[in-house]
Amino acid sequence: MSAVEVDRVWKYYGDYPALKDIDFKVADGDCVALLGRNGAGKTTLLRIIAGLSRPAKGEVRIAGRDLRELSTRRRVGILGHGIAVYDELSALENLKIFASLYGAADPSRTAMEWLERTGLDRVKDGLVREFSRGMRQRLAVARAFLHDPTVLLLDEPFTALDDRAIAVLQGLLKQARQAGRTIIMSTHQLREALELASHVVLINRGHLGFHGVRTQEMLDDPSWLYRNYGEA
Ligand code: ATP
Repeated sequence: MSAVEVDRVWKYYGDYPALKDIDFKVADGDCVALLGRNGAGKTTLLRIIAGLSRPAKGEVRIAGRDLRELSTRRRVGILGHGIAVYDELSALENLKIFASLYGAADPSRTAMEWLERTGLDRVKDGLVREFSRGMRQRLAVARAFLHDPTVLLLDEPFTALDDRAIAVLQGLLKQARQAGRTIIMSTHQLREALELASHVVLINRGHLGFHGVRTQEMLDDPSWLYRNYGEA
């Protein structure tokens, strides 16, 4: 059984087809670099895999289970563009809420553990609205990881983050890979993504251009993939 199955997925914005018959599977423990030019459909696809957006046709299964079930969506964590935390609450209150939503046995303990892991324990009672950008980013990282998702989705994780948040995220990603978690990461930083990835998915204007194992020739020449499988 695959960790993630994207089964003939279509998505429209009005009349515009943003995803056209996207179909691929990701095995347990794979790390997929999701590539494609601006507007190719990467964010749209990640949001559909997270269950935040519904496809017009087709479906997504996580470990063989329907994404419409809450228990399936709980297996997924997403770190996206918007920093999905509440401004008017403290860091601790934020993580407690998300830990409760995800059904943690002891939300306070889970929240504290993640505040420590992201270096926010000393400011745990500070209101998020007073946090620096970097602190908010680390809180968003904690939020995405705190329920120990089996599938982690990361949308351009390194572009918006500051150095410290990047270091925290890289450490967590390494641990997640060692623990056999499945990762799908969209990025423009080809070389870094290809180094981390075991597999590659390339989207060309809503079409699946390439899906397969990351090979040595891609590492040697990151533009190889776009030359051979990119849009004309
Ligand atoms: P980028 O690398 O720029 O983030 P992307 O590959 O993530 O791009 P998407 O954000 O998924 O691409 O967008 C795919 C296409 O769908 C684009 O043409 C975009 O303009 C369009 N699109 C995305 N979201 C919406 C929306 N809410 N309403 C209308 N069109 C949208």
